[in-house]
Amino acid sequence: MANTIVVGAQWGDEGKGKIIDALTESVDYVVRTQGGNNAGHTVYVNGSQYVLHLIPSGILNPRATCVIGNGVVVDPLGLKQEIEGLQKLGVNIDGRLYISERAHVVMPYHKELDAFREAVKGTKQIGTTKRGIGPAYGDKVARVGIRILDLVKQDRFATLLKQRISENNEALKRLGGEPISYQETLAAYQEAADFLRPMVTNTVMLLYKARKEKAEILFEGAQGTFLDIDHGTYPFVTSSNTTSGGASAGSGVPPTVMDRVVGVMKAYTTRVGGGPLPSHDDGLSDMLHGLGREFGATTGRPRRCGWFDGVIARYASILNGIDELAITNLDGLDNIETIQAVERYEDQETGVSYDYVPGDVELLERLKPVMKTFPGWMTSTENAKCWDDLPENARTYLKWIESFTEAKLKIVSIGPRREQTIFM
Ligand code: GDP
Repeated sequence: MANTIVVGAQWGDEGKGKIIDALTESVDYVVRTQGGNNAGHTVYVNGSQYVLHLIPSGILNPRATCVIGNGVVVDPLGLKQEIEGLQKLGVNIDGRLYISERAHVVMPYHKELDAFREAVKGTKQIGTTKRGIGPAYGDKVARVGIRILDLVKQDRFATLLKQRISENNEALKRLGGEPISYQETLAAYQEAADFLRPMVTNTVMLLYKARKEKAEILFEGAQGTFLDIDHGTYPFVTSSNTTSGGASAGSGVPPTVMDRVVGVMKAYTTRVGGGPLPSHDDGLSDMLHGLGREFGATTGRPRRCGWFDGVIARYASILNGIDELAITNLDGLDNIETIQAVERYEDQETGVSYDYVPGDVELLERLKPVMKTFPGWMTSTENAKCWDDLPENARTYLKWIESFTEAKLKIVSIGPRREQTIFM
């Protein structure tokens, strides 16, 4: 019995969806605690590929109840669509999905503002998915947000919407945008509210009762450690806490009942959107893209790729308190003669060496990674069934990651399918 937090240890897209799927077999509750439908977990449902944006991937395990926690920002139209998509694939949602009444709602003006704010940044673009997530969190912090509990109360929502839409239309006008229609928004959001209302509840009490009944809970992280609003490569970050600490605040389940943190990391590093990627390597990017790998699940954008960065992985381990490591996409390195990994960074101007990730992104951009090399294994790992099936050079590489990050290696993933998972 363990309450588990799963976090991405890099810049997102680490393959958390697959690892969560592998871990949820014995789990009773799966909880999303931050982010919105800017995240995307790729899963397989009855042989079809499906991307989940807001619904926890535990929905595919028929015994699990899923919770969208208070820390999430919810686009009700997107959520309704996602539920209907799953229902079409034969997934039963009835009584299995709950939404926190305290979660905030993503409004159409958030999406518009997202696009305009990104456009004015020019070359300094963060690479947001323009789904209104940042502006929705902005309104939450500025205390002018609309929450799910407001959305499901018809009269209150109509009144709040009138106020907010007129304020935001003023802002949009100044930016040269089109005003949002009150009537159209009201109609669409009320339809979604009617659909979602039965799922809205006080999820703190729901999860408290679950804990009393000794239920096992999994907290499903979205995005990755270095996109964390506080600890990531600011300002090239997302608007929520993606690190393990965010799981408590975003669910109302206290830190004292969390038993373990599983950190998911790729055997190399990728990043989508703007911001530093110290271990970036054009050759590796081209090779992985050539294999049809590393294109974003939500946006289809090619991800920048780099070697495994031990400095960021170790920092992620320290920040999140990672107990167990899940290393994914080992198979991506199957045909490389010499594999590299970052051991530390060096500032060539000052000669200072860094074994941690500095907060200043300008400094991070300037730092030169110092690499360690490993002989590749030059053979396919995709059919390995256990640790001993892996080539010796692959095992040496994985053992180095384990000792460098000071966490226990528990899972190695060597392909997208469920059976391509080695448990240690
Ligand atoms: P998430 O956001 O962290 O869940 O990551 P994604 O959903 O973007 O996952 C990335 C993609 O990698 C998905 O299509 C997964 O099926 C796939 N994937 C996960 N683990 C592995 C692996 O070990 N090898 C390969 N080849 N693909 C993987």
